[in-house]
Amino acid sequence: MTRSLLIANRGEIARRIIRSARRLGVRTVAVHSDVDAAMPFVREADAAVCIGTAAASDSYLRTDRLLAAARETGAEAIHPGYGFLSENADFAEAVIAAGLVWVGAPPASIRVMGLKDAAKARMIAAGVPVTPGYLGEDQSPERLQREADAIGYPVLIKAVAGGGGKGMRRVDAADAFAEALASCRREAAAAFGDDRVLIEKYILSPRHIEVQVFGDTHGHVVHLFERDCSLQRRHQKVIEEAPAPGMDPATRGAVCDAAVKAAKAVDYVGAGTIEFIADGSEGLSADRIWFMEMNTRLQVEHPVTEAITGQDLVEWQLRVASGEPLPKTQDQLAINGWAMEARLYAENPATGFLPSTGPLERLRFPRGLRIDSGVEEGGEVTPFYDPMIAKIIVAAPTRAAAANKLARACGKVEVWPVRTNAAFLARAAADPDFVAARIDTGFIERHADRLIPAAEPSEPVLQAAAHALLPPRGTVPWTALHGFRVNAAADLCVAVAVAGRTHLVTLTERPQATIADGVLYLAGEAWPFGPPRAGEQRRQAWCGPQYPPGQHDPRP
Ligand code: ADP
Ligand code: ADP
Ligand code: MG
Repeated sequence: MTRSLLIANRGEIARRIIRSARRLGVRTVAVHSDVDAAMPFVREADAAVCIGTAAASDSYLRTDRLLAAARETGAEAIHPGYGFLSENADFAEAVIAAGLVWVGAPPASIRVMGLKDAAKARMIAAGVPVTPGYLGEDQSPERLQREADAIGYPVLIKAVAGGGGKGMRRVDAADAFAEALASCRREAAAAFGDDRVLIEKYILSPRHIEVQVFGDTHGHVVHLFERDCSLQRRHQKVIEEAPAPGMDPATRGAVCDAAVKAAKAVDYVGAGTIEFIADGSEGLSADRIWFMEMNTRLQVEHPVTEAITGQDLVEWQLRVASGEPLPKTQDQLAINGWAMEARLYAENPATGFLPSTGPLERLRFPRGLRIDSGVEEGGEVTPFYDPMIAKIIVAAPTRAAAANKLARACGKVEVWPVRTNAAFLARAAADPDFVAARIDTGFIERHADRLIPAAEPSEPVLQAAAHALLPPRGTVPWTALHGFRVNAAADLCVAVAVAGRTHLVTLTERPQATIADGVLYLAGEAWPFGPPRAGEQRRQAWCGPQYPPGQHDPRP
């Protein structure tokens, strides 16, 4: 086993890798940009090296400085995490050329799988079913249009070098093709420095099914079953689960075997994921599941696989990179229970999911769950990197129980003043269609109305705020006026300013909310609240004749 490991990454995945390395007695070296100096992953590593400024191109993407940091600290191996240089074959080669152990896929496998057209061509040759389409041998707009017409609309134009959900355009009709092609090319050139595209049949009722594979240097390849990542927003994963709902054993066998075949076809070593797209209109069946791409790295959503298999995939990576055989054979692996993961992002669903950065004055998670997070209370979400705050991971014996646990967990998240998608996640996990596994990649867009929380505080938020403002029993202040009607139940009214707007609330039930420093947390939402300004109080906080001071107190 390698004795020391440099982690060429940051945030939650750096912490995740440190955890396994520490358990295995491997010394860890963190590298970081100057703005990340106070991040938990820097503190938790055994050593840390600042490698540049905030822009990733001046720090996390600098091969020269990463290798120099490894030399300086005597690190024997480099783990790239995900994103950044994890799927960069040149970097992998440079690491190996420097005499270091690369905790990743062989550069040749990365290279062939890195371009979607080359990957699909290789998979066709290996007999793996691929999404029907045109690989883009001829890139002239006329030819691409003809091929799209022949495939039949809707089609999906994809940048061959694309990733992270970028560089894709769905086209529904022939006359919209030329414009979509031009804009996809522009985006691809800007994001990936390569404007080549391929065209795929757009699969209707698409479900994203992927298989975790693992290879070692002794020629073994196993799979660790599938994940379903169909809950996406703009082609980016939001909630992932394992196993996939509705996957019968025969279909699972066929898909997982195809994934192993795909990995073997590129002599794969290490952790990888074969992504498939399934036509879920009539449930899952092997003849309607096609290879889409391979991610030659550890995946963001690997924890759900760890939860159902009981394996530590980072440990597997370190063992395989050290030349050990895979820790388990295929028949020693089994699915146990159900797991789900939600990606908590620093973004505001109410503003069309605009990113929200700033200090994390409050950051609380429910206890008793696996929370993989790169930040902590008192820290900050900066605009420089991925806006993911945490992954909330739950496991339960059944899918229904897991969904319920996830919904409750997301509802208990407390973050302020950074805005998050916690309430949105809680609603998605509790949604009747999600619970019934009526899911495909259009789920979020289709149900946006009921998933995105209203911009105005709900009645339970107002109730909780009003109860919180209520002064102790026996005092009758002028801020909380007591309505009183002869021969009628006494109403108790409280004026409360929530998010700067004054509301007059007639008290009824008291919802379970957390209140701290003038912010109220309820069902994943966070609302600043307090008494209205003096003028507004007198004008609005009136509800029937004032109750005589010092007498009967009608509050519940
Ligand atoms: P996963 O399936 O692991 O979620 P994603 O496609 O969401 O994979 O990517 C994981 C991380 O890698 C994200 O932070 C994403 O922004 C980043 N990423 C993926 N592909 C690219 C790429 N081609 N260029 C830059 N970043 C990428
Ligand atoms: P990336 O490298 O950006 O992850 P993928 O090829 O994996 O690109 O596609 C990302 C997402 O786009 C998929 O998870 C799926 O939701 C959607 N998608 C991709 N190909 C198709 C297709 N042929 N039909 C329908 N949806 C697709
Ligand atoms: Mg993908």
